[in-house]
Amino acid sequence: METVYPMLSLFELRGFNNPGATLFQQYLKEENCPACGAKITVKSPKNAAIWVGATGSKWSDVLQCIDGLILHERVVNVIISEGLTGFIAHPLKIEKIGNKKLAEKGDPSYSIIEITGRVDIDVGQLDDVGGSVCPVCFTRNPAADNPYRWKEKRVFPLMETWDGSDFTRIRNLRWGIHYCSKRFIDLASRHKWRNFIFGQSLPGVGLWEKAPKEIDGLSYLDPLWFEKLSERVKIKHPDLFMRGFPP
Ligand SMILES: [Zn+2]
Repeated sequence: METVYPMLSLFELRGFNNPGATLFQQYLKEENCPACGAKITVKSPKNAAIWVGATGSKWSDVLQCIDGLILHERVVNVIISEGLTGFIAHPLKIEKIGNKKLAEKGDPSYSIIEITGRVDIDVGQLDDVGGSVCPVCFTRNPAADNPYRWKEKRVFPLMETWDGSDFTRIRNLRWGIHYCSKRFIDLASRHKWRNFIFGQSLPGVGLWEKAPKEIDGLSYLDPLWFEKLSERVKIKHPDLFMRGFPP
């Protein structure tokens, strides 16, 4: 059987800010964690609405948004018909478009993706300089002198906790990053979907050796992307690819 390496199983996905969107949502609940005091907000993906910013000249396949994954109807239709798992697509209302070019192109149809797949990570791998994660609300408290970019050494998924969903979030860390499977990236490549960025926090190595300014269809054409990425990930994390690993 083929070895499945944790660092090559899940890939961060996000949108390039071209265009970007701000989400307006109904907050269901806002409270402070009884253990660490962090403010916790619970949001609902239902009846979500967005304001689209001034950048961009085309309605792209993904809208950059820090609060959620927002996909165009043409992407949603494909992931549903191909049977991808780990998500519920909720229709989204566009309240305002701050960009004349886009406004002239009419109202597109986007959905906010509620991600239902979950995975645990090894929080001990996030850093090795004394940061902590609250055991109740999973808010991270990195050490002040944390030397790592984005304050994390690496995000290491525990594969036995993953149900294999194509769309996944981390259960035991409170942050807004979304992950997808290799299957989704291959679909993005086949359909030449625009504006996706893959791989920043996990596997911690971008899919492209040099990230293009705008991620267009041409960037996907290398059929050996996975093999080439694997080589770069192994160079960055050699200890995770030793004989006998993963156990
Ligand atoms: Zn807490």
